[in-house]
Amino acid sequence: MATELTFDPIRLPPECQALRAEVRAFLAKEIEAGTFSPDPGGIDGTYSEEFSRKVGAKGWIGMTWPKKYGGREKSFLERFVVTEEFRIANAPVRLHFVADRQSGPVLIKYANERIKADVLPRICKGEVCFAIGMSEPGSGSDLFAARTKATKTKGGWLINGTKIWTSNAHIADYMIGLFRTSAPTKENRRHGLTQFLVDMRTPGITVNPVYQMTGQHDFNEVVFEDAFMPDDHVLGEIDGAWKQATSELAYERSGPERFLETFYVLVELVRALGDKPDTRSAEGLGRLVAQLHTLRRMSVSVNGMLQAGKEPVVEGSIVKDMGTVWEQKLPGRVRELAAFIEEEAGNRATLEEQLRFATTIAPKLTIQGGTTEVLRGIIARGLGLR
Ligand SMILES: Cc1cc2nc3c(=O)[nH]c(=O)nc-3n(C[C@H](O)[C@H](O)[C@H](O)COP(=O)(O)OP(=O)(O)OC[C@H]3O[C@@H](n4cnc5c(N)ncnc54)[C@H](O)[C@@H]3O)c2cc1C
Repeated sequence: MATELTFDPIRLPPECQALRAEVRAFLAKEIEAGTFSPDPGGIDGTYSEEFSRKVGAKGWIGMTWPKKYGGREKSFLERFVVTEEFRIANAPVRLHFVADRQSGPVLIKYANERIKADVLPRICKGEVCFAIGMSEPGSGSDLFAARTKATKTKGGWLINGTKIWTSNAHIADYMIGLFRTSAPTKENRRHGLTQFLVDMRTPGITVNPVYQMTGQHDFNEVVFEDAFMPDDHVLGEIDGAWKQATSELAYERSGPERFLETFYVLVELVRALGDKPDTRSAEGLGRLVAQLHTLRRMSVSVNGMLQAGKEPVVEGSIVKDMGTVWEQKLPGRVRELAAFIEEEAGNRATLEEQLRFATTIAPKLTIQGGTTEVLRGIIARGLGLR
């Protein structure tokens, strides 16, 4: 029997509007001061220690977390506004973003008190960078095939194996790694994996770069050779990480960063078309904006549901699927709509440059954070159709 799908009709509350104005003013000031450039194409332009520390000082990292760990106990909807404004401005959030979005919440749920008190306040200050160590050669979509092994030793565990596509590993202080602590059972092939907090400075860890088509260095291969993890770095239940990893993914999949990564080409198109676009272009633009508006309402809804303590895993997967397919197609749609814009129009060259960059990064959008096909499988299962 099919299960009902729920998107609560949530609107951003008034306090979000005041916060949005504050975030916009902060970003404008930082751009003017030269802390970062809003240009989307810069190599490594997404990383800035100075910027992350300033954001931490504003209270915009870990803003939904308990005050005793450095958080501000704000709502997921306020966090939504900050994420949205940063994404639109192409702000350099790489250092703190993963920790803020998902690693911190995992630590809050599963780490011991000593680790929470040590690491969480430093995340909130914008001082530490996290990586996610899930994928391996031969184990991407099928996370439960992971083979990187944690073997029990005196006082801890020895890690051996290889993770791949690990975003940020080259700049990360910590990784939350998923390792095999025992074999799967006949009844449950997902059994036997455990999450660990990995200190990236541990001897026995080597990080090798993997470059994007754009030349950017975002992700890596991470090799573990007898890397020692102390017992208290185990997160949650030994052999039971499969119960933990899925709720982490609801945070990873539902935010505005999941449909705004190529948004800048839409802004450039509006500039290039000017205030009197022809009917065909106006109609095409209107269609794109209406689609974006719908995606945004859905994403706000999922964040409102997270705020209400629900686990909207299926709804989050729908936002990620529809959002990434939309942002992936956007450069192509913009190119079509821009076809008849005069060569000499003011920002034509900027539009072309941005389209080139957006087209090169577009293929990754429907792979990172779970592929389209896999998300559709999750959605079908969630709806009772599979
Ligand atoms: C930019 C980027 C950043 C990333 N960052 C990280 C990171 O920080 N940490 C991390 O752990 N990983 C990261 N990844 C890896 C990402 O999570 C995996 O690439 C993704 O899960 C797919 O796994 P795979 O590459 O092994 O492909 P595969 O799983 O081998 O998939 C290959 C193809 O088969 C399809 N397929 C697989 N299984 C099924 C199925 N059951 N039903 C239907 N079709 C299926 C897929 O949709 C895909 O088209 C990143 C990837 C990218 C592109």
